Amino acid sequence: MLNQSFLKQAFHALSQHKMNVLLTGGAGYIGNHTAVALFEAGHRVVVYDNFSNSDRGALKRLEQILGAPVTTIEGDVRDTALLQRTLTEQQINAVIHFAGLKAVGESVSKPVDYYANNVQGAISLLQAMQAAQCKTLVFSSSATVYGDPKYLPIDEAHPTSATNPYGRSKLHIEEILSDLSASDPSWHIAALRYFNPVGAHASALIGENPNGIPNNLMPFIAQVAVGKLPQLKVFGNDYDTPDGTGVRDYIHVMDLAEGHLAALKFLTQQGGLHTFNLGTGRGYSVLEMIKAFEAASGKPVPFSVAPRRAGDIASCYASVDFSAKQLNWRATRDLKDMCESGWRFQQQAQQV
Ligand code: NAD
Ligand code: UDP
Repeated sequence: MLNQSFLKQAFHALSQHKMNVLLTGGAGYIGNHTAVALFEAGHRVVVYDNFSNSDRGALKRLEQILGAPVTTIEGDVRDTALLQRTLTEQQINAVIHFAGLKAVGESVSKPVDYYANNVQGAISLLQAMQAAQCKTLVFSSSATVYGDPKYLPIDEAHPTSATNPYGRSKLHIEEILSDLSASDPSWHIAALRYFNPVGAHASALIGENPNGIPNNLMPFIAQVAVGKLPQLKVFGNDYDTPDGTGVRDYIHVMDLAEGHLAALKFLTQQGGLHTFNLGTGRGYSVLEMIKAFEAASGKPVPFSVAPRRAGDIASCYASVDFSAKQLNWRATRDLKDMCESGWRFQQQAQQV
């Protein structure tokens, strides 16, 4: 049976320039959602993943959404030869590099693993792309590269710094990309600094399903609401924010996914290295997030106030003017949508 995504894709493929896009880490949370956005815009996606933080089940559900199979290569991004072969054999026009380790706390206890996976992985990918003459790249960076904000909202010109090995690995990669771009103007590169991606695809088939106890706020709240965890610890209520709890710029993962599509389109016209914030431009506190999730789920989210988490900052939200202007892209989904989709996914994940 033809589903809606398949029909949308067929329509776009006829009307637009179709690209073959390799998604390293495409089986993960953001990669999966971006695969949907790319497919619906008419592009062919190829997933390259070592499944260190994902499984084939997520790809099966992705295929269910798309109504089509997804070419998947199981491999590590540090396997330069396999990457190069994949780029050539699959006739890849552009790469979106999601693959990497992302847990801040773990990066402090296992820094070498983080540099090996993230920095060495990026170098290996760039070598493979150079050899295959594929020079269009979108890189998953993070708002963590801004360190403790000097001013708000944070624009792309804000100074960068890192407070942990994860953040430093992202900064190192951005610096490598900058040197590469300066050395060879034929590269087309976008570094996307994500703020706080949350929520799930409307189908509730894919979403964020971390192994073990979640580190991030939204999946933690969702697991409390569903009864998997007893209560949330609010890390500090004495910050200099309206209600004393930390403020972050949460962005719906489908808006983020569409930001990648916009960046790819931009790169078809622009060479060089370009850096963009992907956020909504507005912040919500932990208490506001709890309230919104309770309203979306109809479930209570019990919490207690705990000491501040080491390394946390009071507030962080993006200036999105530059990305809106350059990419012709803006987040359109609101907090209600983020919580409702996250809740639907959590309920579905509970049943699997
Ligand atoms: P995720 O862990 O769900 O997805 C990452 C994927 O990469 C996983 O499927 C994992 O198996 C794969 N992978 C890891 N190392 C690999 C390797 N060496 N070779 C091949 N595959 C490998 O994470 P996500 O939330 O989808 O994040 C994607 C990217 O976005 C990461 O680079 C992350 O640092 C960045 N980012 C995420 C967030 C967030 O809050 N989720 C925020 C800012 C930046
Ligand atoms: N937070 C919290 N309890 C948790 C997890 C997070 O109070 O169990 C707070 C955290 O202190 C921060 C906000 O929620 O103010 C977002 O945290 P998250 O780890 O999701 O994102 P990041 O801090 O990396 O932006």
